[in-house]
Parts: sequence; C-alpha cells; structure tokens
Amino acid sequence: MTRFAVLLSLLVLQNGTLSAQDTPKRPPIIDVHVHAMKLNPNFTGDLCPWFLKDMPGADPNEPAPPFANANCVDPLKAATSDEEMQRILLEKAEALNVIMVASGDAEILHNWYNAAPDRIIPSLAISNAEEMTIAAFEDSLSNGFYKVMGEVAPQYQGMSPSDLSLDAYFGVAEKLGIPVGIHMGTGGNGMININNPKYRASLGRPFLLEDMLARHPKLKIWVMHAGYPMIDEMIALMGANAYVYVDLAGFIWSYPLEEIHAYLKRLVQAGFSKRILYGTDLMIWPKLLETSIGVIESANYLSEDQKRDIFFNNAVRFFNLDASRFE
Ligand SMILES: [Zn+2]
Repeated sequence: MTRFAVLLSLLVLQNGTLSAQDTPKRPPIIDVHVHAMKLNPNFTGDLCPWFLKDMPGADPNEPAPPFANANCVDPLKAATSDEEMQRILLEKAEALNVIMVASGDAEILHNWYNAAPDRIIPSLAISNAEEMTIAAFEDSLSNGFYKVMGEVAPQYQGMSPSDLSLDAYFGVAEKLGIPVGIHMGTGGNGMININNPKYRASLGRPFLLEDMLARHPKLKIWVMHAGYPMIDEMIALMGANAYVYVDLAGFIWSYPLEEIHAYLKRLVQAGFSKRILYGTDLMIWPKLLETSIGVIESANYLSEDQKRDIFFNNAVRFFNLDASRFE
C-alpha cells in the first residue's frame, strides 16, 4: 500500500466515523407483525400500497382476483431471493431502527436472527393442532428461542379462536407468560376465492375471542389487524378485557388511506391509544417498512406522544421488554 493509499484509507475511515456520529439514531420502532417466508413462486409480484381502493366486481367463471396489484407509478418491488429479502430487510431495519417480532419459516427466521439478533424477536406460529403436539409446542416455547406465540390464524381454517382444539396451546402460553397474536378480521379482497376456501369473514369477529379469554384469565393477547373492519366489536371487547391490545398490520398498507385513518382514529378516540401496537404484516416487500411507518407519521390527529406509544412504548409494556436495550 502506498503512503497515499494509506492516507486516503485513513481519511475515509475518519469520514465514516464522523458521519456515523453526525447522523442521530432514529427513535426505535417495534414492528410486531412480520412474516419470515421462503420465496414462493406462487406468491410473488410487486405491490402498490393502498391497492384496495378499487375492488372491481369479478365473475366466478373468470380467474380469481389477484391478491395485490402493481398498476401504479412506483410499486414496491418484491424480493427476488431469500438472500436479497434478508439483506434489504435488515438494512432497512437498521436505518429505520426497527425491531421486528417475526414468525414463519424456521430456517429463514434463524438466518435473520443470527444475522441481527438485536432486531428480531422470534415468534412461533400455530393455527391448528395438527401442526404440532402440545408437548412439542411447550418445548419450543421453553427453550429460549421463541418469545411470542403467533400468528395464530384459525379464521383461515374455518375455525373460531375459541375452538377447543386450540385451547391447550393457549393454556401453555398462559402458563409460560408468552404473549399471543391472533389474526382477526380482514384477509384482503376475495380471500375465499383466491386460495382459502375455508376462510370465513364471520370468524374474524372480535367477540369470538371472549370464551377463550374467559378460560385463560392470565393470557395476554393482541388482536392482529385490529379486527378490521369490525370496529364496534373491537372497542367493546377491549373495553371488557383490559389486557387486550391490537395491531395495525395489513390494513394500513392495503385499504384506502382515508379508511385506515378513520379506523385508527376511532380506536384512539375511544380511548385506546395505549393499547395499539404498530405492525406491518411484512411479507416479501422489504420497503413496506417505510410505507407503513409513513402512515402513522402523517396521522395529524395523533400527538407526538401517541405516535411514540404506537411505535414503541405500548409494545415495550405489552411484551415486557427492557426499553434501554433499544436506545
Ligand atoms: Zn393476519
């Protein structure tokens, strides 16, 4: 290495150090709803946020409506490989200071966790008793890797969350003090027609949680997708059950913005700003992190304190996290 090269590398190093110090770290954000998925050729394609502003009539004799669409100026790119997904996602998470509660494919989840243990809180998904025995489930939750149970999505199986076949699993989570995320509400447009014939809109009713909650008084749950669009039942359920939280995942980047804000505003107006968790339902579009954060940042009916509660403080309280770990 020439002297000039040494000098140059020292300068670069110095500048690198300086600029790192100059850029203040963004306040931390906890995304409670992320899916670690293996790339699937049947589930890919770019995405226009808020694409459900137009749900045109379809015909049962024609192909089912697409899950998403890419007919906009600047659609979010789907990752083209598992490696690319991990690299961009973790870069974005670092830049935006996001910590993610993630569930899904065990291998992908372990890869993410090994690459960024401070950014990933592993969650164990189970939606029916055939996926795992109760003993294996308890073992997985006791060995230290998994800290959360979710996404539990009995609705896609045509089942109520109070179905007794899931009861022992909730009992394990209750006994171990593991928080549980349960899918309730929307699955997108035409979910039944696309690939989930057992899905039932009516099985997303928040009131269906009540029997299960009554059987497990110490269980801590959050209702994923905030039971969208069943706001009245959601508010009534939260009023009656003081430990129930909600997340905003999925609907904050798919339905029309006005509709999203009306729903979120209603939850806040009803007094629940301390029980709303930020979440994306991130799947294969890493830039969705920014899109979804923007929705909360631009909500002019929320105070700065309420935004920080939704982004961070509520999740710290709900998951019993040590906030100083993230500062
Ligand atoms: Zn869901």
